[in-house]
Amino acid sequence: MQPNGVEGLAYIPREDAEALEPEIKCLAALHSPSTGIIDSHGFMAALQDDAETHGAMIAFSSQVLPAASIPRGLAQQIGGTEEIEIVALCVVNCAGLRAVDLTNKVEGLAKAHILKQRLTSQAAVRRVKLDHCNRNSSP
Ligand SMILES: Cc1cc2nc3c(=O)[nH]c(=O)nc-3n(C[C@H](O)[C@H](O)[C@H](O)COP(=O)(O)OP(=O)(O)OC[C@H]3O[C@@H](n4cnc5c(N)ncnc54)[C@H](O)[C@@H]3O)c2cc1C
Repeated sequence: MQPNGVEGLAYIPREDAEALEPEIKCLAALHSPSTGIIDSHGFMAALQDDAETHGAMIAFSSQVLPAASIPRGLAQQIGGTEEIEIVALCVVNCAGLRAVDLTNKVEGLAKAHILKQRLTSQAAVRRVKLDHCNRNSSP
């Protein structure tokens, strides 16, 4: 039993993860054979703690506004009570379903970087998985 109460939780190497799930591409994995339920709030608090311990600063309640492409990187506008601009060499866009829209609003973005949003239904995902299983099980 782990201190967090989860039975059998273990870090496994890439080879073991790929043997369990051939579609996985990873360096290592956290294997939880007994549950898929996590304390998402506790997990996020732990990530915040780790990030801040390693020098990250987190700005809550700050809307990421459209950026402008400049020679030194991106001039990123941040909303909130006081709007600010951050010049960054690299910006990681993890805005979920809003990510494509946010990227496409970057002023001065080269046409080659314009993204098309693609949403997949669960039925389509199941069909792809089924096709994959049939392909792998055929003699
Ligand atoms: C009802 C439901 C149930 C689900 N259940 C499961 C499940 O059981 N298991 C599973 O694996 N997956 C599940 N998913 C899918 C899972 O939630 C998503 O795949 C996952 O959250 C995507 O993570 P993300 O970090 O890419 O985006 P998100 O979790 O969507 O995070 C994006 C964040 O960016 C913020 N944001 C967007 N635009 C801006 C902006 N301009 N400025 C500042 N912030 C911004 C959003 O507010 C959000 O907090 C479920 C999804 C839904 C809707």
